[in-house]
Amino acid sequence: MAIRKVARLGHPVLRERAQDVDPASITTAATRQLVGDMWDTMHEYGGVGLAAPQIHEPVRLAVIEIDEIDPRNGGGSSAFVLFNPRVSVLETSVIGTWEGCLSVPGMRGYVERPSAIRVDFLDENAVAQAIEVEGFLAVVFQHELDHLDGVLYVDKLKDPRLFSFNEEFARYQTVAEEQVC
Ligand code: ZN
Repeated sequence: MAIRKVARLGHPVLRERAQDVDPASITTAATRQLVGDMWDTMHEYGGVGLAAPQIHEPVRLAVIEIDEIDPRNGGGSSAFVLFNPRVSVLETSVIGTWEGCLSVPGMRGYVERPSAIRVDFLDENAVAQAIEVEGFLAVVFQHELDHLDGVLYVDKLKDPRLFSFNEEFARYQTVAEEQVC
């Protein structure tokens, strides 16, 4: 497995609609290698999630891992490999967080998203799964799965003025919510 280079804002691969993954290919050595590279890259860059287009692979695959010590996750530990995910909104009420993105390094911005969603996907063994997530985890899922449609969080800023370099955010913003995907 290997650490891959992360595509940054402006690279066209981040704006493509990623292609569906053939379920028969999920358990192949090549795909397992890709998933391993995604974990390695996500851990190296310190993210909580990574979508395949972010490492220049325009396919519908994302990984998400929330540390159990992260209080935003309610004390649980969660790791997901998601192929061909589909999102259904369960709650129209929104949750607002200051999001960051490994493809937009050094910055964060305030985004509001539906607070609860259902996600249908194939796991790393090509088995169909469905989960319902809410709160911070729902934000992470939506952020990552947006990448598969060529959408970045900067497209969804609540207000263009709610966008900041991390250093200035730390100095001047009183809200502590943040994430990096
Ligand atoms: Zn991102």
